[in-house]
Amino acid sequence: MSKIKVTIWNEFVHEQEGGALGVLCRQWYPQGIHKYLAGVLAADDLEIRAVSLDMPEQGLPDALIEDTDVLMWWGHVAHSKVDDALVEKLAARVCNGMGFIPMHSAHLSKLFRRLMGTSCTLHWREVGEKERIWTVPRKHPIAAGVPETFTIPHTEMYGEAFDIPDDGKIIFTSWYEGGNVFRSGVTFQRGNGKIFYFSPGHETFPIYHNENVQKVLANAIRWAAPDFRDDSFVSHTPQPLETVYSENPLEKIDTSALHKTL
Ligand code: ZN
Repeated sequence: MSKIKVTIWNEFVHEQEGGALGVLCRQWYPQGIHKYLAGVLAADDLEIRAVSLDMPEQGLPDALIEDTDVLMWWGHVAHSKVDDALVEKLAARVCNGMGFIPMHSAHLSKLFRRLMGTSCTLHWREVGEKERIWTVPRKHPIAAGVPETFTIPHTEMYGEAFDIPDDGKIIFTSWYEGGNVFRSGVTFQRGNGKIFYFSPGHETFPIYHNENVQKVLANAIRWAAPDFRDDSFVSHTPQPLETVYSENPLEKIDTSALHKTL
């Protein structure tokens, strides 16, 4: 079986910054988020290339674009530096079948917005609050082996309203300690290409060190590959189709004022 050719693109700016932010980022990603992900996602069926904006041709020469089955994208402060011509080339490749996985603040990348046709804006807050992620479908290849719910102890909040098109299929939804909710994992199809947006991944928290986050990205690569076949996944554990009484709340509930007369 031929390997899936994965290209992880990173603007690679925060990790090289001076000051406290750079120190925080390098604490978790000393070689950059792209190199870190290339390491933890390495597997026999994948050929992973890690590239960045500061490389010749912004890291994505034509030969590499043609040779890529799945493109992963991390960007935040340098979206505007990405050449429009490159964005058009990549959008055409996605429509011709290349998988695309925009991560975290890539919601505002030129390529994601180009493919969505909407502003992709959202609400956000960065105080390091808890995020609880829920798997929405009972069975989906991207959620294979991922718990029905798991938490990230400290995250950046991305909240609704998220201006993406209605044709997205929601795979994960998130609740935040501060009360916001968000469609944190959504799939789209554009032409022959599959797209999976996944929001966890703020640069100053060790979110890509989380094993469930890594599992989601590993699954998403296989799912987004052009020749993906659902029966190649053996780790499905679909939940039984029954209505479940959730006796024990997952977060603190305060009912002290219930039934009290005024
Ligand atoms: Zn962030």
